[in-house]
Amino acid sequence: MYTEVFSRVMMRSAPAPLKVLARGEGARVWDVDGADYLDFLAGIAVNALGHAHPAFVGAVADQAATLAHVSNYFATPPQLELAERLTRLTGGSRVFLCNSGAEAIEAAVKLARLTGKPRILALENAFHGRTIGSLSLTGKPALRAPFEPLLPGVEHLPTSLDALEAALAAGDVAALVLEPIKGEAGVVELPEGYLAGARELTERHGALLILDEIQTGAGRTGDWFAYQHEGIVPDAVALAKGIGGGFPIGALVTFGAASDLFGPGHHGSTFGGNPLAARVANAVLGEIEDAGLVENARRRGAELRARIELIGSPLVTDIQGRGLLLGIGLAEPVAGIVARRALDEGLIVNAANESRIRLAPPLIIGDDELHEFTRKFTVALEIPHTDPGEHA
Ligand SMILES: *Cc1c(COP(=O)(O)O)cnc(C)c1O
Repeated sequence: MYTEVFSRVMMRSAPAPLKVLARGEGARVWDVDGADYLDFLAGIAVNALGHAHPAFVGAVADQAATLAHVSNYFATPPQLELAERLTRLTGGSRVFLCNSGAEAIEAAVKLARLTGKPRILALENAFHGRTIGSLSLTGKPALRAPFEPLLPGVEHLPTSLDALEAALAAGDVAALVLEPIKGEAGVVELPEGYLAGARELTERHGALLILDEIQTGAGRTGDWFAYQHEGIVPDAVALAKGIGGGFPIGALVTFGAASDLFGPGHHGSTFGGNPLAARVANAVLGEIEDAGLVENARRRGAELRARIELIGSPLVTDIQGRGLLLGIGLAEPVAGIVARRALDEGLIVNAANESRIRLAPPLIIGDDELHEFTRKFTVALEIPHTDPGEHA
């Protein structure tokens, strides 16, 4: 019934759903037929506290009954508390609040434009969102092609410091925008030293370094933000996904002089930073702090990686990522089959592309979830061997 409705009324932009889900609790979700699944995708790195966490539920209910929305003519205590919290956790100085990752990137694009320089650099294979501005930065030609012409002045570079240095040397670069780990690409790490090198080069050439931590932020990689592993300070960071734990919210945090670029009237959002969203984000981030979930992401991530290695599947070529954001490379283009098998076993993992499986479980997972994952994922990896020649 649901499938028929979906195909009849949902815009064709959405792929056919894997399942129709009805409820969730902790790291588990149930479909409309009552079958349950261990959720190792967490709404693509969104449900940091898992499903129906009391801190999340309480914040939504209490704030909805207190004050859900005002407008940007007014400030509210939850909004100011969230801005202070985000500056404290990031080390940044000012915050623009919005409603999604793409909007956080849009704010970053406008920040870059305010420098007065025309060029914006991004990386090949990067993902920054689907609105026209954020799509312009997204480095996947297939996603961009139907919507061209996109923003002028945006260039995509191979992920090498030589390419970056050459592009910066040509002058007039407002900003370099990049993900510390390429999430949508299937959780692919930057080359060793790239981020620190990019910081040094952008600084030398007077360009902003803007990080997209929409997927990597909020504790997921085992630090609050992935750039903190590298000991660098960016000029701006885009956030969304995990900071709301399932409530739509996004943010752009600026550092140092980049905080002086936006002036009154330059940007705004009706819903951005409304007290309901801000209160929930405060509750989610507060719980991540109080329950030690950043540390848990680091510890459980290491255990998860070790367990995948122990499965010893010949199909697995590499494991990349950090904390509880892991990408598993496969020797053959069978990620879709592996993810489907996992789902049949009652485990949600993501085929980010045909040869990489992405894992992004809630930050609350413990021994039980790791054990169940290993059992089910072992079965999912036992797919019938295909002759490599078949795909030639
Ligand atoms: C999800 C994501 C976005 C886009 O966020 P939306 O909320 O879907 O607009 C941008 N960048 C990265 C790295 C993401 O993972």
